[in-house]
Amino acid sequence: MIKYLDLKYINTLHQEELKDAFNRVLQSGIFLRGEETSIFEKEYANYIGSSYCIGCSSGLAALTLIFRAYIELGIMKEGDEILVPSNTYIASILSISSNHLKPVLVEPDIDTFQIDASKLEEAITSRTKGLLIVHLYGKNAYTDKIKEICQKYNLRLIEDNAQAHGCTYQGGHTGSFGEVAAHSFYPGKNLGALGDAGAITTNKYDLAQTVRMLGNYGSETKYVFKYIGSNSRIDEIQAAVLRVKLKYLDAENRRRVEIARTYIEKIKNPFIKIPCSNYLENNVFHVFPVLTKYRNNLQEFLSNKGIETLIHYPIPPHKQNCYKNWNNLKLPVTEYISQRELSIPISHVLTNIEIENIISSINTFNP
Ligand SMILES: *Cc1c(COP(=O)(O)O)cnc(C)c1O
Repeated sequence: MIKYLDLKYINTLHQEELKDAFNRVLQSGIFLRGEETSIFEKEYANYIGSSYCIGCSSGLAALTLIFRAYIELGIMKEGDEILVPSNTYIASILSISSNHLKPVLVEPDIDTFQIDASKLEEAITSRTKGLLIVHLYGKNAYTDKIKEICQKYNLRLIEDNAQAHGCTYQGGHTGSFGEVAAHSFYPGKNLGALGDAGAITTNKYDLAQTVRMLGNYGSETKYVFKYIGSNSRIDEIQAAVLRVKLKYLDAENRRRVEIARTYIEKIKNPFIKIPCSNYLENNVFHVFPVLTKYRNNLQEFLSNKGIETLIHYPIPPHKQNCYKNWNNLKLPVTEYISQRELSIPISHVLTNIEIENIISSINTFNP
């Protein structure tokens, strides 16, 4: 049986170091806003290449705090429009709408799965204040064209880096290209905690200060509340866990890329479209997506061979019940992807034998 992602095995590989980390926290007697958090924040800011990092309780909390901070700072206001890719995970969009901003869905490019920069300008109005790019499936979404458009229309560029920790582009890390970025450390992400956790990175002092206060009840000084805040802090335990796992991230990502290269070289099936070789660039392969008209058959076929797969994502945001107003929108590229995408296992712990098994199984698939 090849699991899509074997979280037990992945984490028990670091068992001794993780036990030391738990023990440090236990012995310190400090479970929030302590040394593990402040050191992790420094290490992660340094890794991403940002001046500031603020630990959060989840990726969604990080995203939500960012838009809340823009509103508190008077940079955005209710009803302002934020461009966002229409094929992203729901959290990107929830963070916008929960702040009473208006998400404007922009279709992805079918080859990269990233927001289609050529469709941005037609979506911009006088109310457009920001662009939330999502480095979806672990591939960089930032380009010169995106930079130009943000400058030309004075848009705030925000990055959703939940799926792309460690991904690089032109010598920098994703999460350092926009004005601010949100990161998720959900257990299944490339950098995963042992529970919920997230972070915000930015070079802007005022944004950093504001999100930190907003995530700590709107307070900087104990019992003094400047904003209507929330409790969106990271736990000391999770910060300590992430300090252990951050050290291995680059090596694990390199293994993911190696597996992706093998898939691209060796998967050959006329019924299945796999990404082309330049999809390997600027990618840490949180997900390895294949497209096929026979997606459900392929998933069942692989399942019968003991190979677990997932779909990212079966129902796009605009077809969800929670966004009823959008249900009649036509977003053909997004819908096409949602009907045909299948994610095959790509975690760093797969053995070469398992990889060969996955490849030969896919190559023998005949709908
Ligand atoms: C996982 C994810 C999030 C949300 O992160 P959580 O930590 O689960 O709240 C946001 N955006 C994207 C693209 C994600 O994949």
